Amino acid sequence: MKSPVGEVNPPPRILLGPGPSCVDARVYRALLAPMLGHLDPDFLRIMEETQVLLRRLFGTENRLTFPVSGTGSAGMETAMMNCLEAGETAVITVAGFFGTRLADMARRVGAEVIELKAPAGLPVDPQQAREAARGKKIKVLGVTHGETSTGALHDLDAFRQVADECGALLVVDAVATAGGIPLRVDAQRLDVCFTGSQKCLSAPPGLAPFTANPRVEEAIRQRRTRPPSWYFDLTHIMKYWGGERTYHHTAPISMVYALREALRVVDEEGLEARWERHRRNTQALVTGLEAMGLEMLTPPPQRMITVTGVKAPPGIDAGKIRRRLLEEFNIEIAGGLGELKGKIWRIGLMGASCTQNNVLLLLAALEKCLAEEGFKLSPGAGVAAVARP
Ligand SMILES: *Cc1c(COP(=O)(O)O)cnc(C)c1O
Repeated sequence: MKSPVGEVNPPPRILLGPGPSCVDARVYRALLAPMLGHLDPDFLRIMEETQVLLRRLFGTENRLTFPVSGTGSAGMETAMMNCLEAGETAVITVAGFFGTRLADMARRVGAEVIELKAPAGLPVDPQQAREAARGKKIKVLGVTHGETSTGALHDLDAFRQVADECGALLVVDAVATAGGIPLRVDAQRLDVCFTGSQKCLSAPPGLAPFTANPRVEEAIRQRRTRPPSWYFDLTHIMKYWGGERTYHHTAPISMVYALREALRVVDEEGLEARWERHRRNTQALVTGLEAMGLEMLTPPPQRMITVTGVKAPPGIDAGKIRRRLLEEFNIEIAGGLGELKGKIWRIGLMGASCTQNNVLLLLAALEKCLAEEGFKLSPGAGVAAVARP
């Protein structure tokens, strides 16, 4: 019988949104490798190698380092479900959509949540956390490293200080930053840190690399109650990813192949070189956008360098520009969320998407669309500002 739908045949998009990013050809090839059983000795070796590479990515020697089965949000949920118990208090930075999500998860555990709010486009001031925590027993200080919904970056070292002062575990959402922005889990003493496979690592979405230090392992041993989630219960998951290799759930085998290859690509480039590439290309993008007369949402010292929030000029239909970029140039960028809907664009330069070619192409394509929609700009200014020696 003929299938009611044709074979999947997606267009060759250039992914310059907040994720997923473009996938390296080597990672696609890894996805095609033959299936193995999740307890096959050859797969166990691949798991171990993936953990070695993840420790290098995070800059950690944490035993508890592995990819959670699920997207970045699964990493968030693993952190909240295991670090918090009902009745405990968490202080969480809410500088946008992803901070709100982290706070929501903490509340679902039954924790008391103190939300630290920031004006749209800005990060939370660490001093706010200090004041909110004063005189209280805080179990978790949750910080979104890069708030992808606006492009604001939090100062992890300053929040580490606050966490030290109140004895809290520092939980860091590095979903949109790990592999793109300097981050060293052990040196910066991040108690928990997690990321997503599809952002700066340029693998498909589906895994959430996760790490937690011995302090967290001890806190988990001291729990009075079991985590409310069975799937994300670290004591069980670590029997599979740790030494015992006992079945918990079937590992997403092909995704582990893909992540392992993506991490090999990271290693070959070198983390420092990779951070520098993200800094350089995003700097070029901002230079070009400003030369076209556009304004960034977040001021430079507090700006992420993997996702940039750009204000849509008054009178320009932000959604229409986005649709034209997609239809005419195969370029994906994103719009704003919540109160920023229709007001900003979010441009991601992450992993394999973060190239000089893509910067120049986007500037030229955006200029054409903006000019045709009636935005006054001097022709070629964006590309010229970047291409100038
Ligand atoms: C993308 C993102 C998430 C959520 O990841 P999913 O893979 O969509 O589940 C969480 N936090 C941040 C900062 C993100 O950028």
